[in-house]
Amino acid sequence: MTSNALAVAISAPTESRRRVAFARTVIGPEARAAVDRVLASGWVTTGQEVLDFERELADKVGAARGVAVSSCTAGIELALRGLGLESGARVLMSADTFCGAASAITHAGLVPVLCDVDPRTALPTEAMIHTAVRAVGGVSAMVVVHLGGHPLDVEAAAAAAGLGLDRVVEDAAHALGTDVASRHVGSISRATCFSFYATKNLAIGEGGMVTTDDEEFADELASSRLHGMSRDAWRRYLPGATWRYDVTVDGLKANLTDVQAAIGRAQLKKFDVDQARRAQVAARYDALLHGLDGIELPPRPTVGRHAWHLYAVRVRPEFALPRDRLMERLAARGIGTSVHFIPLHRLTWHSRHCVIPEAGLPGAEAVFAETLSLPLDQNLNDDDVDEVCTALWETGEER
Ligand SMILES: *Cc1c(COP(=O)(O)O)cnc(C)c1O
Repeated sequence: MTSNALAVAISAPTESRRRVAFARTVIGPEARAAVDRVLASGWVTTGQEVLDFERELADKVGAARGVAVSSCTAGIELALRGLGLESGARVLMSADTFCGAASAITHAGLVPVLCDVDPRTALPTEAMIHTAVRAVGGVSAMVVVHLGGHPLDVEAAAAAAGLGLDRVVEDAAHALGTDVASRHVGSISRATCFSFYATKNLAIGEGGMVTTDDEEFADELASSRLHGMSRDAWRRYLPGATWRYDVTVDGLKANLTDVQAAIGRAQLKKFDVDQARRAQVAARYDALLHGLDGIELPPRPTVGRHAWHLYAVRVRPEFALPRDRLMERLAARGIGTSVHFIPLHRLTWHSRHCVIPEAGLPGAEAVFAETLSLPLDQNLNDDDVDEVCTALWETGEER
């Protein structure tokens, strides 16, 4: 590059723009102070902080119990194991979701059966569930996902699959803050699994929680997340506690630490404020992108509440550029975007280990070709949103 070209590049407007990350993790001063407190306490793994976090999160979603785990994926696996299904039993799930739930199903010795999705909502319809279940002669359980935070009617989905709610496990990685009609996600099915991964609405970095109204199921989960030991290992160190324990099930090592729980509790305190901001950001995108040719806005739920984990538009053929070229163009302007998700039948391992309908998964394919998740987190300010929208309008007017 000549020095002239360099000068032009440096002064080009795209170079002087601020960057808008796809999603940032902010661990605030309260969380950092809480971590310091735990680190100074002499006990850093599963203990009182975890118990307090379990109580507070369960209360938040209206469930009787919360069992903290190392990840949402581990939570789904433990919940499925807890259903006590026969090895090789079929479990229905959406084809358009993160691979973790499918891996949890196979880890539990079960077989994922993929269901297609409505291209508009990216969620399975009752008719699609019915078709997928009939094609395999019935399923034993179902994993339900509220994609992007958009509520799926869990009861209707279970009924369409011919299952009771006791055979439903929710992958609620996007759904802390989602309401199905007037009920919070977290108290509807047998077990609801939340994620506290770095980009999720309540971010710890890593971590998860299973909530349930079934006390006995919760006790089993509490044991199976820690080697299947009959008594929480940390209790053995309390004054007067016995060192004896038994192992009653084939458990995992999937507990959460007090350091993580301390961050989670601080994040939970500001969760409602964060969610309100996410909803404002979504509304601002809606208003500013309205009327842009070839950009289809995400549908609003007719009932219930969207948690706005993702703000995913569809880049239709009428738009000036195809989705991937648009992503590149936005990246060049310092704007991060993502695609949720690569459908499971397009992943090598899952394509070999999931039951895929003979007719294929045209709905999931249609979503995959056009979906684009725009930057969304509670720390975006109005200027950030405006910058993304300006970039979309300018790109859209290029043709
Ligand atoms: C992030 C995510 C998961 C996995 O959560 P972990 O806590 O990382 O295991 C599962 N399902 C969906 C839909 C996700 O987006």
